[in-house]
Order: sequence, then C-alpha cells, then structure tokens
Amino acid sequence: LFISFEGIDGSGKSTQVKLLADRMPDALVTREPGGSPGAEEIRNLLLTGDPDRWSAETEILLFTAARRDHLEKTIRPALDAGRTVICDRFADSTRVYQGATRGALRGTVDALHDLMIAREPDLTFIIDMDPQAALTRGLARGSGEDRFEDMGLAFQETLRHGFLALAKACPNRCVLIDGNREASAIAAEIAAHVTDRTQG
Ligand code: C5P
Repeated sequence: LFISFEGIDGSGKSTQVKLLADRMPDALVTREPGGSPGAEEIRNLLLTGDPDRWSAETEILLFTAARRDHLEKTIRPALDAGRTVICDRFADSTRVYQGATRGALRGTVDALHDLMIAREPDLTFIIDMDPQAALTRGLARGSGEDRFEDMGLAFQETLRHGFLALAKACPNRCVLIDGNREASAIAAEIAAHVTDRTQG
C-alpha cells in the first residue's frame, strides 16, 4: 500500500505521518522532495537560495527528477518487497505548488508526470486547514527554513484551494481530513481509513 500525505505548510501533515508510522512499525516512511540520496541533493538545490533561483519550468523539472529518483531507489523497491510506504508529499504537491502558483503550468506538470512518474499513491490524505488558523495555532513554522515559507497568506490560500480541488477530482484516492482538531483525533480517523483500505 502506497500512502501519501498532502496539505499546506502548517496543516499538521508531518505530525500525522509520524502518528500513522507509529501504528505501522513495518512501513517505510519517506518524504518529498527527497527520500533517496540523489533526491535529497536535489531537495537542497530546490529549497535553498534565492526565491528566483529557478524558473517555474526548471523547478518542475527538478521536482520531477527528484521524484523519479525517489520512486526508483526508495518507493518501488519497498512496494515490491511488500512493504507499506508512507510518503510526506508526492506528486499532488507539484500539481498544486508548481501547477498553480507560478502561472498556469498544470499541463506541463501533468505531461511530465505521465512521462516520468506514472504512479499515484493508493491512498492520499489531504489535511485541510485554513492558513490563518494554521498561523494562529502556531502550526505554520514560518521559520524561513526553506524558501517556500513566508510567502504570505494569499499564497497559502491558493494552495489550499488547489488541494481542495484535487480532493474533489480524485475521490477514490484522496481523503479530505479536517485538520482543525486534536492530532490524536485526526490520527484515529486516518488509521480507520487505512484499516478500511487494507481489509476492504
Ligand atoms: O513538506 P515540507 O515542508 O518538508 O516541504 C518543503 C517545502 O517545499 C515546503 O515549503 C513546500 O511548500 C515546498 N514544496 C514545493 N513543491 C513541492 C513540494 C514541496 O514547493 N512539490
């Protein structure tokens, strides 16, 4: 089973990845961009430096290159060995971040995805949270840790709507999760969905 988690910065996504991993000790936990040695190097290229370091198109190529390496070196071997893979972000992040925030590049994202990745998770949890609420709850780090943070509330709003649209477009794969609750309640709901999927 290939499970991904998606959501805006500060949605509590990474906390939920950890809580699900605690319940599934045999699962492989990984993240994007990164998740393999080569992809982690590309992550570094992507997340550091000037915001204008890469054009929107180059950025899509780099994310896709990182994903391809991650898939080849980490995700596929684990799935082939029968393990569950839990991934913090996958192609949906590129659809939303690169496909919608720097111009209408969704077609480019999709074409490259079909050509080079052609794999979706079996199950995607989209943790929904109002960006202002994330800030108020202190969930959004805003630490300036990477160059995509601190891009403002309007940017986060655009992302949120992108994720909501994806959840609507892919109801079989995507489960929309209300992130405005206690982490333990959210984790219980997610675990129930996973059990459903593995036993159904
Ligand atoms: O999930 P995490 O915070 O580790 O992601 C790192 C950064 O990369 C985030 O700020 C996210 O906004 C950005 N990102 C992106 N496009 C992707 C994946 C992540 O801009 N496809």
